[in-house]
Amino acid sequence: MSTRFITIGATVCALALGVAAPADAIVTKANGQRYSYLPLNGSTAKKAAPFAANGNLDYHGGPVMPAMHQYAIFWAPSGFSFPAGYQAAITKYMQDLAADSGKPTNTTSVGTQYTDSLGNRANYNVTFEGAFTDTNPYPTNGNCLPYPPAVGPVFSTCLTDDQLQSEVSSFVSSHGNQRGLTNIYHLFLPDGVGNCFDANPLDGCFDIAGGYCAYHNSFTSNGQETVYSNQSFTPRDPAGCGTGNYPNGHANGNVDDQLSVLSHEANEAREDPLLDAWWNSNTGEEGADQCRNTADDYGPLLGGTPGVDGFNQVINGDHYILQMDWSNAHNGCEQRYNLTGTATGPSSGQVGQSLAFTAGGADGEGGTVTGVTINFGDGASASGPTASPPTTRRPPSAANTTLALFPCSTKLSRPRCCGSMSKNNR
Ligand SMILES: [Zn+2]
Repeated sequence: MSTRFITIGATVCALALGVAAPADAIVTKANGQRYSYLPLNGSTAKKAAPFAANGNLDYHGGPVMPAMHQYAIFWAPSGFSFPAGYQAAITKYMQDLAADSGKPTNTTSVGTQYTDSLGNRANYNVTFEGAFTDTNPYPTNGNCLPYPPAVGPVFSTCLTDDQLQSEVSSFVSSHGNQRGLTNIYHLFLPDGVGNCFDANPLDGCFDIAGGYCAYHNSFTSNGQETVYSNQSFTPRDPAGCGTGNYPNGHANGNVDDQLSVLSHEANEAREDPLLDAWWNSNTGEEGADQCRNTADDYGPLLGGTPGVDGFNQVINGDHYILQMDWSNAHNGCEQRYNLTGTATGPSSGQVGQSLAFTAGGADGEGGTVTGVTINFGDGASASGPTASPPTTRRPPSAANTTLALFPCSTKLSRPRCCGSMSKNNR
C-alpha cells in the first residue's frame, strides 16, 4: 500500500488581506561519458509487476530541471525523410503538453514531487519553443560502422553520440537559443539512421539487442549545460520500442511509438538532467526506467480499444498512450500525480475568535492519502490525518476586527491554490 501526504497550500490565504547504476539504465562508457538510456523491450528480464517495489528513487545531490522549454530538431539531410504527418504529430503533442503545463493530469506531473539541494522542483513548467528542420549533411568522419538493427536492413549511416552532441550544439549556437537546465533539445532522426554511444557498437547502439530505443544526456558548452535527448526513429521496431496502441492512428508513421519514448526521456531529464539527481541506487534506473519493461508499462486505459487505439492520457483534449513514470509517493508507477484536496472553513471571523477548518484529500491512482496540511497565509500551518485534520485558527491581527478570508477554497479541486502541493511517503 502506498501512503501519501498532501499539503494544501494556503487553504486560508486570509493574511494576505490583513489576516491571513545500473543494471541497464545509466551506464558509463569507455570514453568516460555516462548515458541514461531506454533499453529495448525484452533486452532485460521483465520485471514481475508494475508496482513491484524495486525501491524508490534515491537523491544523489545534483540538480533537477525547474522548467523545461522544449525544442524539437528534425535532422534529415537530402536523401532522408520522416513519414508524412510524423513531424506535425510530434509538434502537436509538444504543444498539447505545454498547453496543460502545471496540471496534475498527465505523466509529466508525476515528477513534480522531486526536488534538489538548490531548492528547485522538477516542475511541470513546460513550454514549446519550436520544431526545426535541420538539413545539414550527416558527418562522414569518425562515424560508427554500418550495423544490422533488430528490425529491417542494415543501417548504412551510423552516427556516434559525439556527432549528435556536436550537431545539437551547433544548432543551438546558430539559432541563438538558450542552454542551461531549463531547456531541452530533442534530436529526431529519420528511419534508416543508426547511431551508437561511440565508435564501438558493442558499447550500445539504437535498436540492437542490449542497445537502446532512446536516451537523454547533457554536455557542457561555454560553461553551460546543454540537455538533449536522442529520438531515433522508434516506430521501426514496435516490439522493442513501441506502445502497442495507436490512438493517433497509423497515417503519421505510427508516431505513438515515438511519443511515449519522448515522454520517457523528457520526464527523466527533468528529474535527473545531469544523471546525478534522482535514480535508484539499487538498480541504477531512473524514474521512467522503473516503469519500463514491466507487466504493464501503461496502467489502465482511459478509453479506446486495447491493442488498437487505447489511450491512457488526455492532454489538452487529445489522446495519447504514454508510459508511466515512477512515483516515490506511490512507491510505484503512476499515470499522473492525481491528488485532489478539499478544504472548508469560514469565510470571515473576528479577531481572537476560534475558527474551525477541515480538509481532506484523495488519490486518484489508488494510493491512500494519510495526511493533510493546511497552510495559512501567514506561514502558519496545521497538519493531521485526513480523517481528522480539523484545526482551529484564531485571527491574530489586532489591527483588524474582521478576518477576511481569501476565497481559496473555491480552487481546491486543483490543489495548487496559493502554494505548492507536495506529498511524500511519510
Ligand atoms: Zn530511461
